[in-house]
Amino acid sequence: SLTLGIVGLPNVGKSTLFNALTRNDVLAANYPFATIEPNVGVVPLPDPRLDVLARMFASAKVVPAVVSFVDIAGIVKGASEGAGLGNKFLANIRESDAICQVVRVFDDPDVVHVDGRIDAAADIETISTELILADLQTLEKAVPRLTKEARMQKDRRVMLEAAEAAAEILNSGTTLFAAGVDREPLRELTLLTTKPFLYVFNADEGVLSDESKRKELTELVAPADAVFLDAKVEAELLELDEESARELLESIGQDEPGLHALARAGFHTLGLQTYLTAGPKESRAWTIKKGATAPQAAGVIHTDFERGFIKAEIVSYEDLVEAGSMNAAKAAGKVRMEGKDYVMADGDVVEFRFNV
Ligand code: GDP
Repeated sequence: SLTLGIVGLPNVGKSTLFNALTRNDVLAANYPFATIEPNVGVVPLPDPRLDVLARMFASAKVVPAVVSFVDIAGIVKGASEGAGLGNKFLANIRESDAICQVVRVFDDPDVVHVDGRIDAAADIETISTELILADLQTLEKAVPRLTKEARMQKDRRVMLEAAEAAAEILNSGTTLFAAGVDREPLRELTLLTTKPFLYVFNADEGVLSDESKRKELTELVAPADAVFLDAKVEAELLELDEESARELLESIGQDEPGLHALARAGFHTLGLQTYLTAGPKESRAWTIKKGATAPQAAGVIHTDFERGFIKAEIVSYEDLVEAGSMNAAKAAGKVRMEGKDYVMADGDVVEFRFNV
């Protein structure tokens, strides 16, 4: 499954957030390089539609989609030169499908900042710069080779031109994601900054309730998604019963846990969407890429379903809820038969017909 790699400067709250993500007891220590081995945290994607379906179909259980986060060892300036845990860090990012940077915007004199001050823009630039430098190194090696190959093979010319254009963008200090560069011709080079970015601002109450500050930070990282949360509060929430958790959230002016917003943003950043199935056994959300066709969607349940795909019986979640039951939706003509070229929409409630 697709993963987001969690990165960030030391002491920004990565381990604290990751603990909350996994409820695991990953070491959260107040010094650099505390998190050395990558770990995977799998979090459910909140989806209130599943509870509605479970009631309608009297499902025995609800199975949400999940988002996977990989905790990657801390980065410091010089990672692209192999300083600290640089090489391992870059290799781990290369394996992630998106980059999730935790940025410290909480104030706490007891927690040392690696550069001695809280400055979100500078922290973001520090990480971006290391990734940009690593990509420039990759391109420096690739371009001479591609130049040679392009003389013999015309199809290598497209890649060469894309590589040269990418180097120019990187040299101007912009990541390839922020520049909106087409990843396809560059795919073979596995450049780091073509990956989608997501920013988690680890904030205190002051920032969480300061709309103009949030807007400013959101604009700073656009087109990447921005999520605001207090990692320490997220960890505390997991220790509380539902009632106390709601009270704690209310006391800091939030209407849902930050992890919910993070799961949604992670899902969005990875370019994923869900479709739904419902029955007495379970109501379930299945993960597909945006733009997936009906047979590809069926293949997520079982590869045989993709091969033997005949058609899909589909009703949109909204139409189903409005009708009140599957039979009522059918009677109202809201249930469609879709063929192999159908592109799935988010919230399609599906039953596949297939040969095995
Ligand atoms: P990492 O090095 O990025 O993994 O950072 P840690 O998660 O180990 O956090 C470093 C220190 O900051 C720890 O003492 C945490 O308890 C503290 N910390 C993390 N998140 C917050 C937060 O949101 N607010 C405050 N005040 N402290 C935090």
